[in-house]
Amino acid sequence: MDFRIQRVPVMRFGMVNAYVIQSGSGVILVDAGLPNCEARVAKSLARLGLEFRDVDLIIVTHGHFDHAGNAAVLRKLCNAPVLIHKREAIYCAGEEKMMLCPTGWVGKLLLRSGAPQSPFEFFTPELTIDGNDSFDLKPYGISGYVTPTPGHTPGSISVVLENGHTFVSDLVASGLGLGGIIPTGIAKRPPFEERPDQVATELERLLTDGARHFHLGHGFKLASRAIEKHIELLRRM
Ligand SMILES: [Zn+2]
Ligand SMILES: [Zn+2]
Repeated sequence: MDFRIQRVPVMRFGMVNAYVIQSGSGVILVDAGLPNCEARVAKSLARLGLEFRDVDLIIVTHGHFDHAGNAAVLRKLCNAPVLIHKREAIYCAGEEKMMLCPTGWVGKLLLRSGAPQSPFEFFTPELTIDGNDSFDLKPYGISGYVTPTPGHTPGSISVVLENGHTFVSDLVASGLGLGGIIPTGIAKRPPFEERPDQVATELERLLTDGARHFHLGHGFKLASRAIEKHIELLRRM
């Protein structure tokens, strides 16, 4: 099966990314981005000759506002269901605030700015993943699946395509500062991370299951070798 992958530059220089995946008539959006990013999503869809109404499913990888912040708006524009893990749905409904564990100065600075906790249009998803269940994307025209990959947050999920392209969102970042700016080819911890040991375990499992090309929420695509090195670093912590 052939896939077309289009990165959505939610913020410039790869600092915040969402993705459009198309295969045949199947179109899914991985992450909804920051509030008010719909014009950027429309532009990325147009690059593939698509419109909002072509989107079959919106996958929100976790409840942080830079990934879930525009889900309510995009859902209306696309008229497509939103999928998220149950553990994150409470944050997206505005019922609870997320725990934020900074990994360094960028996280601390962001936390002080209040931006990561800023409210967005809350929503209740149509579809949820429970526990360790995976979610088959075949009914949405895509040969691949969604799998829980906790560690960054308890309900973080990743998208794995049958060709090895994998969308891990904030399980790993790359680049400088928040992520992005310049491609370094090196994996790093995102500004926030709850359980580094769990992140290492999940990355190992993804590699075992055939993940090869890692697309990130913050920064540029990484190869498996960079992920292997990152696992070693996390294990030493
Ligand atoms: Zn995050
Ligand atoms: Zn993020």
